[in-house]
Amino acid sequence: MSQLQLAGKTALVTGSTSGIGLGIAIALAKEGANIVMNGFGDVAKPKAEIEACKVKAVHHAADVSKAQDIEEMMEFAKAQFGGIDILVNNAGIQHVAAVEDFPVDKWDAIIAINLSSAFHTTRLALPSMQKKNWGRIINIASVHGLVASVQKSAYVAAKHGIVGLTKVTALENAATGVTCNAICPGWVLTPLVQAQVDAKAKLLNLSNQEAIKQLLGEKEPSMQFTTPEELGALAVFMCSKAADNVRGVAWNMDGGWAAQ
Ligand code: NAD
Repeated sequence: MSQLQLAGKTALVTGSTSGIGLGIAIALAKEGANIVMNGFGDVAKPKAEIEACKVKAVHHAADVSKAQDIEEMMEFAKAQFGGIDILVNNAGIQHVAAVEDFPVDKWDAIIAINLSSAFHTTRLALPSMQKKNWGRIINIASVHGLVASVQKSAYVAAKHGIVGLTKVTALENAATGVTCNAICPGWVLTPLVQAQVDAKAKLLNLSNQEAIKQLLGEKEPSMQFTTPEELGALAVFMCSKAADNVRGVAWNMDGGWAAQ
């Protein structure tokens, strides 16, 4: 029998073609979980990285800003693997502007992708998890689910919202084998953050390295990026037997950001 702790389980990770979602999908796959991938861009390379862990990986291209697409993705997961045991709500986007200048379409997209999508996947995943009396829901929030920064109204609102959704989902299932927790990363050098580094470098006429140093220096006392691998390890812990009674936490991995 396999010694891998997630062998026989299926994990759906939204936004797993890139960055943190891919790191978490690989970490879960290394523990034996089959993966339902989701997200845009190149699929072949990240899919091959997951399959190298000797699990099955399938991809669904749902645009998670659309409830109908999410319903189709959940049906697809059921048809492929008979349902999902682990749900990681990770897909997210960013836009920076002052509140009075914030484009309304960007606000709507951030709330839909970073918050409402987790409501839809969760409401659709819960019944079968409750029936099996086992499930893990992990919401990738952010340190911005705990504290704010200027120019990020929609993102901060969505991330505070997903921390709230995490707590309610955890409470409603507290007497069952279904847990729900949030992970709150500080800076992670993914395409989402590289875009912010590029904007800073351009605005202040800095090199990439100088812009990174400034970005970290403003917020993150460790002066280090958190990595997708570290976040993957935390997600694996949240799926473990040892985490059976970890419920409704918003666990920051942020180099001391929120401790200040
Ligand atoms: P990323 O840009 O590398 O990856 C985002 C993923 O989401 C990609 O797979 C993309 O295709 C997918 N995605 C975007 N819009 C989508 C949509 N409408 N439908 C389906 N998929 C969509 O970003 P990342 O940095 O890995 O971010 C992942 C999550 O982590 C986000 O929720 C983000 O807010 C959060 N986060 C990131 C950081 C950081 O520093 N990078 C820090 C804290 C929290």
